[in-house]
Amino acid sequence: MALIEDGLYRRIKKLTGRAIADFNLIEEGDRIAVGVSGGKDSYTLLHILDSLRRRSPVKYELVAVNVDAGFPGYRKEKIEEHLRHHDFSYRMESTECYRIIEEKRRPGSSYCSFCARLRRGVLYTLADELGCNKIALGHHLDDFIETLLLNQFYVGTLAAMSPKLLADNGRHTVIRPLVYVEEGDIITFTRQNGFPVVCCACPVCGKSDQKRKEMKRLIGALAKENPHLKHSMLGAMGNVHPRHLLDKNLKQF
Ligand code: SF4
Repeated sequence: MALIEDGLYRRIKKLTGRAIADFNLIEEGDRIAVGVSGGKDSYTLLHILDSLRRRSPVKYELVAVNVDAGFPGYRKEKIEEHLRHHDFSYRMESTECYRIIEEKRRPGSSYCSFCARLRRGVLYTLADELGCNKIALGHHLDDFIETLLLNQFYVGTLAAMSPKLLADNGRHTVIRPLVYVEEGDIITFTRQNGFPVVCCACPVCGKSDQKRKEMKRLIGALAKENPHLKHSMLGAMGNVHPRHLLDKNLKQF
């Protein structure tokens, strides 16, 4: 089934294209591993990047990559069916992440951060095996601004995410082309196109990240009073005035 090419599709495509241009996310000859978890964000990212690729004068390749952490009940066959049906190049990778988390996680430490670290490592290894120089992740505008608040409220730093970042291994560049796309649009786009969203099936699914949910609620409540709030927060990340901050490394006092 082809994508529904309505105003929403065109808006997401335009915003993604703008982010690619603003941050120089994709260059000639790139081979990009697109992380596809079976969630709404990753399906949207893959389909939009593919639509842009078809008309782009810059030649690049996409490979959808799914990392199965091994949580019982994960319906990865639905993801594979979708990727095959849409004729994507893809790789499905089964891992022992679940067993490793259960055996090695220190009591009291975060399930999610251990899981995410393990899966990121697998993604980097797969990118190497597949000859990919970049890894695309489906973080969207709401993820960026929620992270900005989380870091201020609970970590004491002024930081969010980067749309383009050289990974710690120095070999791969992680890109986040949906930085300008609101989560609400992704939800509608996913529903309209009937993407087969699959739950991660992990033991903390839906129960983790309560603080992020608080940030989402807070931003949602404030955005009712000020419809420009989300874009203002995103704009603030690109309009930093170090002279009006307290970082002694950025300013001579
Ligand atoms: S929600 Fe589940 S799958 Fe996602 S990072 Fe946390 S533990 Fe892993």
